[in-house]
Amino acid sequence: MEQVPCVHCGKFFIPRNRSQNYCTEADCQRARKTAWQRYKMKIDVDYRTQQQPILEPSPINLCSLLLTTGFLKVILNVILIGRKQRHAKSNSKRPGYHSSPD
Ligand SMILES: [Zn+2]
Repeated sequence: MEQVPCVHCGKFFIPRNRSQNYCTEADCQRARKTAWQRYKMKIDVDYRTQQQPILEPSPINLCSLLLTTGFLKVILNVILIGRKQRHAKSNSKRPGYHSSPD
């Protein structure tokens, strides 16, 4: 096999296979791994999702879920209707029913 320059340090080395672009130096191997990961992240969605931590349902997530589903709107309506009903009740008192003691 012919000697090729390392893409990281530029030093000539004999590659073990045709796809080897980095020499055996630790720094170059690290660079190769980083480059490979970056490349993988770019092309492989499955790899990307595997690398990401699984999202646990958190209170923030739940809150945003409620907001997106319009659940909060329903809750607000319930509160507003409750207020209206209370208001209506106080107005519907029959005159004379509320008699003063004196
Ligand atoms: Zn190198």
